Amino acid sequence: MARKCPHCGNELIENPANENYLLCMNCNKNYKKPGGGNSGSSKKSKKNSGFNILLLISFIIGCLYLLYSLVYWSGAVGSVSGVGEQIGAGIATVLVMPHLICTVLAVIFNALGLFMNKRGFALTGAILYSVALVLFPMYFMFVIIEMILSYIGFAQIPKK
Ligand SMILES: [Zn+2]
Repeated sequence: MARKCPHCGNELIENPANENYLLCMNCNKNYKKPGGGNSGSSKKSKKNSGFNILLLISFIIGCLYLLYSLVYWSGAVGSVSGVGEQIGAGIATVLVMPHLICTVLAVIFNALGLFMNKRGFALTGAILYSVALVLFPMYFMFVIIEMILSYIGFAQIPKK
């Protein structure tokens, strides 16, 4: 912790007025602490580096829904025997596919927004959840929670 003043070589002490700066009693000069003053600003940076809890919940629900759909839709197409039923299941899959693709993209952007703490990604995820909802309104209950959480999470991430 002992730092020398570059001007006179006197030992620097912590500035009592601002703990991010070191003070030379000899020259009465302030020097910025090396390493960005970790002791002073650690509380602030800790708050920023933590995951946004709403985006985290949204991401988890999104993943669970995708897993569920994967199991459900692969099972629905594979299990039917008759040709007519297969066509029916095929049509249902085609109808639901854009919704699922949109949800996959939404979860990806949701994750990017979560792990990188970027508002833009969080908002993109929220919009994609909304699009997924519009594309297949019958399944609105599976994406509406993620959508709302993403919009709130986006609003909570501070502008940089
Ligand atoms: Zn000095």
